[in-house]
Amino acid sequence: MTPKQIAIVGGGPAGLMAADILSAAGHRVTVYESMPTVGRKFLLAGKSGLNLTHSEDYDVFASRFGAAGARLRPALDGLPPEDIRAWAAALGTETFVGTSGRVFPKAMKASPLLRAWLARLESQGLVIRTRHRWTGWRNGALSFETPHGTLMIEPDATLLALGGASWPRLGSDAAWTAWLSARSIDIKAFRPANCGFDVAWSDLFRQRFAGAPIKSVTASSPAGTMSGEFVVTETGIEGSLVYAHAAALRDQLESSGQAALILDFVPGRTAERLEADLSRQDSKASFANRLRKGAGLDGVKAAMLRDIMPEANRLQPDALAKRLKTLPLPVLRCRPIAEAISSAGGVAWAGVDERYMLKTAPGVFVAGEMLDWEAPTGGYLLTSCLATGKAAAIGIEAWLHI
Ligand SMILES: Cc1cc2nc3c(=O)[nH]c(=O)nc-3n(C[C@H](O)[C@H](O)[C@H](O)COP(=O)(O)OP(=O)(O)OC[C@H]3O[C@@H](n4cnc5c(N)ncnc54)[C@H](O)[C@@H]3O)c2cc1C
Repeated sequence: MTPKQIAIVGGGPAGLMAADILSAAGHRVTVYESMPTVGRKFLLAGKSGLNLTHSEDYDVFASRFGAAGARLRPALDGLPPEDIRAWAAALGTETFVGTSGRVFPKAMKASPLLRAWLARLESQGLVIRTRHRWTGWRNGALSFETPHGTLMIEPDATLLALGGASWPRLGSDAAWTAWLSARSIDIKAFRPANCGFDVAWSDLFRQRFAGAPIKSVTASSPAGTMSGEFVVTETGIEGSLVYAHAAALRDQLESSGQAALILDFVPGRTAERLEADLSRQDSKASFANRLRKGAGLDGVKAAMLRDIMPEANRLQPDALAKRLKTLPLPVLRCRPIAEAISSAGGVAWAGVDERYMLKTAPGVFVAGEMLDWEAPTGGYLLTSCLATGKAAAIGIEAWLHI
């Protein structure tokens, strides 16, 4: 029997995991990647430590994917967090659980893991064709722009693992949405997820504090109340605590045109205790001194309070305490999707069967961030991309009866 040819388009974590499963099983697999090298976003994720997965209770973990959770669950069950850690360990990357429960490689970077992974894939016979940009279908064949001209192929099965719409300069530019839409495949509009927000800072505050971290705060939104830190930027705010609230703030902005992150600048004290501490301050002392001695606030936090609420210096201790515990920081809009950690939206689940095959395009499978799901940062993104890549590989084997 002639061996089946499998094409995987997109060499990110989802595509490479599918390639790993299929090539390990001895199938003929070629990865086509538009960029000069594969795994660019994976490497970028390594710059902030490469949060591979999360160690929390598995049911809680699986609940982080919102409306798409039920559809993703079988794929996650097939590659749960402990299997991700075992996969990394088998490639020589030991992982550890950070204080937040997030799982990172001990080396805190992606390059050794990617290097070892690519070496294994090569030993399994995987062929990788870089600088091959898929440009859609021509007469039923996959068409690629390559340095040597147009290449047309008709594989037995195709996996599209083209990524979402964030950081397009790393390769995932979402150009494919046009080619899938032309085949009547429903695509939910891409929106920024895990993104920063614009804030109407004064010029003075921006000039003095852009780049300053805001530590030891809690922030609330419809997503809940979480503690952590974020960073003041030239245009607003970004960082892990902001990303944790990003989907909720984005949805509020979309539905009502306004949203605010509610900050607690003094999470270690109750409003009553803070009021008592502020009341003890000399009313003739400067506002800066009262804030510093009574609430322990100075620097960027004190300046932010004044920037958001110029009248704060006139508040009585009870009202000031209340404000410091629930300070609304209005956000104007999401930062552009090109700057977001990830994107929401993509191929609608209704058009995808349990094998990850497009219902209207037999033999064409999809995996990774190009599907319509989103999750917070915390290792959920990579886990889901790797897990859907594996699920699609198993789906391809089932469909091809191999
Ligand atoms: C700054 C940053 C930090 C991150 N940190 C983390 C983290 O710590 N933990 C975590 O879980 N997640 C993290 N992520 C998210 C994570 O990296 C992505 O969710 C993940 O890489 C998506 O995998 P994917 O395989 O679906 O797509 P991608 O990694 O985007 O790969 C898609 C591939 O398809 C290729 N491609 C696209 N179009 C074509 C075409 N037409 N022809 C051929 N090839 C094409 C692209 O070049 C790309 O190589 C981070 C993201 C960013 C931007």
